[in-house]
Amino acid sequence: MNFRKPNKLPLVLILVLNLLISSKSFATVSTFNKKVEVKNLVTEYKTNPIGIDVEKPRLSWKIYSSKNNVLQTAYQIQVAASVKDLKSSKNLIWDSEKINSDESIQIEYKGTNLESKQRLYWRVKIWTNEGTSAWTSGEDFWEMALLDVSEWQAKWISPKQVVDANTVEANPYLRKDFKLSKKIKSATLSATALGLYEIFINGEKVSNDLFSPGWTSYKKRLQYQTYDVTTMLTTGENAIGAILGEGWYKGNLVWENYRNIYGNRLALLSQLKVEYTDGTSELIVSDKSWKKSTGAYLTTSIYHGLLYDSNLEQINWSTNSFDASKWEAVEEIEHSKDILVAQSAPTVKEIQQIKPIKIFTDPKGNTIFDMGQNMVGYVQLTVEGKKGQKITLKHAEVLDKDKNFFTLNLRSAKATTEYILKGGKEILKPKFTFQGFRYVKAEGLVNPKLENITGIVVHTEMNKTGTFECSDTLINKLQSNIQWSQKGNFLDVPTDCPQRDERLGWTGDIQAFSPTAAYNMDVAGFLTKWLRDLSADQYKTGSVPHIIPDVLKGSAWKNAAGSTGWGDAAVVVPWVLYQAYGDKRILEQQYESMKAWVEFETSQVDEDGVWRFGTGFEGTLMHFGDWLAYSTETAEYPGATTEKDLISTAYYAYSSITLSKIAAILGKSDDEKKYNAQYEKIKKAFENEFITPSGRLSSNTQTAYVLALSFGLIPDQLIERSAAYLAKDVEHLKHLTTGFLGTPLLMQTLCDSGYEDLAFMLMNRKVFPSWLYPVTVGATTIWERWDSQRPDGTFNGDTMNSFNHYAYGAVGSWLYNYVAGIRIDENMPGYKKIIIKPTIGG
Ligand code: BGC
Repeated sequence: MNFRKPNKLPLVLILVLNLLISSKSFATVSTFNKKVEVKNLVTEYKTNPIGIDVEKPRLSWKIYSSKNNVLQTAYQIQVAASVKDLKSSKNLIWDSEKINSDESIQIEYKGTNLESKQRLYWRVKIWTNEGTSAWTSGEDFWEMALLDVSEWQAKWISPKQVVDANTVEANPYLRKDFKLSKKIKSATLSATALGLYEIFINGEKVSNDLFSPGWTSYKKRLQYQTYDVTTMLTTGENAIGAILGEGWYKGNLVWENYRNIYGNRLALLSQLKVEYTDGTSELIVSDKSWKKSTGAYLTTSIYHGLLYDSNLEQINWSTNSFDASKWEAVEEIEHSKDILVAQSAPTVKEIQQIKPIKIFTDPKGNTIFDMGQNMVGYVQLTVEGKKGQKITLKHAEVLDKDKNFFTLNLRSAKATTEYILKGGKEILKPKFTFQGFRYVKAEGLVNPKLENITGIVVHTEMNKTGTFECSDTLINKLQSNIQWSQKGNFLDVPTDCPQRDERLGWTGDIQAFSPTAAYNMDVAGFLTKWLRDLSADQYKTGSVPHIIPDVLKGSAWKNAAGSTGWGDAAVVVPWVLYQAYGDKRILEQQYESMKAWVEFETSQVDEDGVWRFGTGFEGTLMHFGDWLAYSTETAEYPGATTEKDLISTAYYAYSSITLSKIAAILGKSDDEKKYNAQYEKIKKAFENEFITPSGRLSSNTQTAYVLALSFGLIPDQLIERSAAYLAKDVEHLKHLTTGFLGTPLLMQTLCDSGYEDLAFMLMNRKVFPSWLYPVTVGATTIWERWDSQRPDGTFNGDTMNSFNHYAYGAVGSWLYNYVAGIRIDENMPGYKKIIIKPTIGG
């Protein structure tokens, strides 16, 4: 066989690369004044958070200076109950004193134990090689949540089910009037629901959070939210109200449209604590004194959309002047409060607005708005109609080959918003539902105009931390598509897709995409929350469900867990977070979960160390393998199928060695040795079973070589030969053949093996299969399949075909860490040390 070293290649011109690293611990040249400044103070990844239930919150800051090479040498943190105390250094709750350290992120609070609702102001000062900073303002704070379940005096209140739990009923409205007799100092609301909720005080929504309380493993962990509502209340008469929705708790979910997965009653838990200036306080809690009715929201469903009748609006229903005499009683129900946890991740919000780019009539005669971007959220409708007029908005991602509105790929998801107008000008938008769409079909709209519709992009609020731009507009569009797919699939949980009857937390997809996600945006809080649910839903055997939160347990999909490359998310995702954010606590928190997964893998493996079969769906082998790898209908080359046992043994090795490294970081030396030895054993087994003496793998596919090479499974003397087999395959086919598991590592493996030219060839390829093919035919997000839509406009599958699936977008990390060459040093994570090593070529 011919080994060859790569050719010298022309330079790719990087015009702009701006990686704003969230956990940065070095100085940036962003101010022109000479002194060293400390800014952007955060507690547990949040600015001035209220409702923290972490016992020892972690504090971080950023350092600013007009000079380069300003490095922190020491810090001091002070914490007090008020800004005044802090500024005068009196009654300090904690004073770290001067600590010689260059650490500026995730410094654990080490003062006395914290109490419920306690608000702590903090300030920091640093010493550097270029002088000392002043103290920060002292106005930064965090506030603790309700730390003891006995502090919840509120009762779970539930509207009576009118029909039965399988029938979708109108969304319940709950309300109560109350009087506050004294001067108000402060007021905090703590609330959650079985189902989704939005809460209002005196006619106004208390926050712009959406989809609260978020989606978690509801039977074990239910988040509550905390809001400062001081300015919303008045001394005298007040009213509080909530609207509930079925959401993930009780509404239709999974392709089988199961209902009542977590329970069959919607309920609210709401506790408002008002503190008066005279030092006394009062609680307004959900209980039997609340009343129930319904309003304009007749149905809301995550998948199916909503039916809203404006004529049924109850105007001012959450104000004190409202007459609620016709409202009915609510019931107090029993439901655990031990499962309550404070909201830790950022919340879902309306993030962006998009105007449609055109209106057209498709060949079937439908009126279609084109948003110009495949987006996730909903549309706001501005309309002037007649009383009783019905307007139906349907959502679709694509047009078919004849340019007709196409919804077959949504499968059973109706993705439909229906409004019955009351007449006059109305501005309407949905609640408790979201859709993935580029096109909106409007029925019942007279003289449609672009101004009728605004797209509202909805996702978890995350700071953008990375951008990538180069001289190639197609690659820039690919990067944009990756970021749009991340936005669309980071709506409280990391999902496979946002449009069809799934929208579920498939573990394999985020396992593949998490490194890219962490380059693009600050995903620390978002993925930390999801990992808590992964631990919560893990089987006793250590097996990891395919979907987190696990909504398949107890379904027809028995034991839907334990797939290689999917379950490994338990180890890979915390490791990615540690690398990107230097977050050691995530490793500690997830340690038992990741160890349990690796032990599960061991339990499935044969004596000789090869994972041949597994216990999965109905007791059969349940590995998805290199999902959606390149396939053909040609007899001579049916595509690139990598044997599942090769993949599972490779991932078993990778998770074992990663666990060993994590054990070393956490000082667990027995485990470090154990899993390192285990890795060596698997490596040997892999060699015996899958590698020929010439370095060829039993599955002669790109994915097989990529996994074996990047997981270190090829014996040293065969590495070059194996890499040459990989290169030969790429050179021969002139395209990639990888699926969900091979794709994330393909480009870096080629580059690490000296085949940068082939990597750039793959990146620049514009025909199927490639990353740029979809871009050349107008994709605005990443597709589920390499050829979800073919050049002739036909689809590769009508029903298993999403146009917003981030897995193949996993190539995004390669743009950052190989093309631009911004790499994390595994030994100094969180960008404490940054390796700059651009790859020349392309
Ligand atoms: C999802 C995938 C997922 C897969 C499992 C699909 O239905 O959309 O992205 O990982 O099932 O193979």
